[in-house]
Order: sequence, then C-alpha cells, then structure tokens
Amino acid sequence: MKEFVILAHNYVRPEVQRMADFVGDSLELVRKVKEVEVEYIVFAGVDFMAEMAVILNPDKKVIHPDPCSKCAMAARVKAQDILKAKGKYPDAEVVTYVNSSAEVKAVSDVTCTSANAVKIAKSMKSDRIIFAPDKNLAHYVAMQTDKEIIPVAENGCCPVHHALSAEDVARNLEKHPEGEVIVHPECTPEVIKLADFVGSTSALIRHIKETSAKTIIVGTEIGIISRMKRESPEKNIVPASKYLVCPDMKMITVEKLARAIEQKGPIVHVNEGVCEGARRALEKMIELSPPA
Ligand code: SF4
Repeated sequence: MKEFVILAHNYVRPEVQRMADFVGDSLELVRKVKEVEVEYIVFAGVDFMAEMAVILNPDKKVIHPDPCSKCAMAARVKAQDILKAKGKYPDAEVVTYVNSSAEVKAVSDVTCTSANAVKIAKSMKSDRIIFAPDKNLAHYVAMQTDKEIIPVAENGCCPVHHALSAEDVARNLEKHPEGEVIVHPECTPEVIKLADFVGSTSALIRHIKETSAKTIIVGTEIGIISRMKRESPEKNIVPASKYLVCPDMKMITVEKLARAIEQKGPIVHVNEGVCEGARRALEKMIELSPPA
C-alpha cells in the first residue's frame, strides 16, 4: 500500500497542484477520497475538504498542511441556523453545499456540490428545500428547478465569487466582444445572467476544451486559470477579474506540503458522533449523483 496520496483542489497554487497525485473539484475529490488505498491522505485545500476526507475514509489518516486555511463561506452558517430553519419549515428537506462544517452536514438530509446541486435538488421528495450556506448557489438552483429554495443565511456566500460584479464582466466583454463568458454558480445572479455557461470548476475546464469560442472570460477563482491554459493552450483565457483570489486556498504552499509529509501531520480529527451524521449526508449525495 502507498504511504501518501496528495489530493488538491483546483483553486490551490499552481505549484501545489503540480505536486498533487490528483487535482479536481469538490465532487471529484469526494469520489477520489473513497477510492484511495493509502495510509495518509494529504489534502491541499481548505478545512472542510480535509474534514470530508476524514468523514468518508475514517480508516485513513488525513493531513491538512495548514489548519488555518478555512473556507470563509463555510464559517457563515452554523448547525443552529439549520435547526432553526427546520423548525420554521418542518416539511422541507435540507440540502447543504459541501462548503460547510461537519456539524452543519450532520443536521442535513443530503449534501451537494456545485457540480450536482441542481440534480440533487430535483431528486428530493419535498417541493420545499432549505439550502445552505450559499445564497447565490441557492438562487441558481431555484432558477433551474421548480422547487421552492429557502436560503438560510443572508450573508451566506463566497466572498471571492460574490465580489465579481456585472460591471467587471461587461468591461471584459467590451475588450473582447467575441468572448464567451463562463462562470461558477457561486457568482451573483447579476453575473450569472451575463454568462454563456455556468458550471463547477471541472465543468468550466471541460467547457473550454469543447467550445468553439477562441476567447473565454472566466469568472471563478484564478487558481484554476493556469490549469485551463495548460490544458487548452490554443484558447485565449481571460480572468474576469484579477481580484478573484481565495486567500485561504493560497495558504497551502509547497513548503507547508513538504513539511506536512515529513512530519506526518497535522492530522485532522472530526468528532465521532458528528462524523456519523455528516457521512450519512455525504453518502446520500454520492448515491444520488453517480459518475456519468
Ligand atoms: S473560494 Fe470561496 S467557497 Fe471556495 S474556499 Fe474560498 S471562500 Fe470558500
């Protein structure tokens, strides 16, 4: 059995991505975590991703090279907020974006990622869905389904994607009128309205390969741009804003990764009781969203 596997999210630094055994979006990483046969999973991403690796693969030791790297959106919703919403809407089912704490997942019916949020929402029995934490993704899901989607938190959004404005996109379109606009569903409804394609990070990478457009304006975290350029060198790939930088994803550096492997830590721990509930919600997502 291999000793280490390095899994990395599409948003971490390009040099960290190059050190990884596998790079992907949240859904791909969730699936990968379940497959790997190693002693240590080293997770290059933010806190909730490393937590998911522990929850889904409890027999493996999971290392997070910098425990201070925390998703700002995940921190905006607490389990208490979900329980309060459930009390108010007892007939609703709870769909929680994986960008959330293990405690929040544990009180949810099912999790989703940006790649499968619409599919998961459509597959729920109830016509009413409590959705957390991302209000922008909630809005996008509501546009794609006939379910009533109830966002939980007024400030529930990714500060990075939320900062991209319709004016930023319009400015890019002025410079590149022939450009195609592709964005992540964590962007605001105003930005999504201007987009030709909306998808998870991996869907955006695939779309660039498939589209006939030569110039593509990309509205997501810029860590993904180098991979897009590497995999589609013939395309002119333009970041929609140079400010789309997630500081927490960038906290994982090559040096921290090397030190984590050398020291075999820090190891991530998740409370056993919480783990069980969160695993149920994650496993339900995997069951409802098999690979295509
Ligand atoms: S880009 Fe946004 S959603 Fe992703 S980890 Fe950073 S703060 Fe969280």
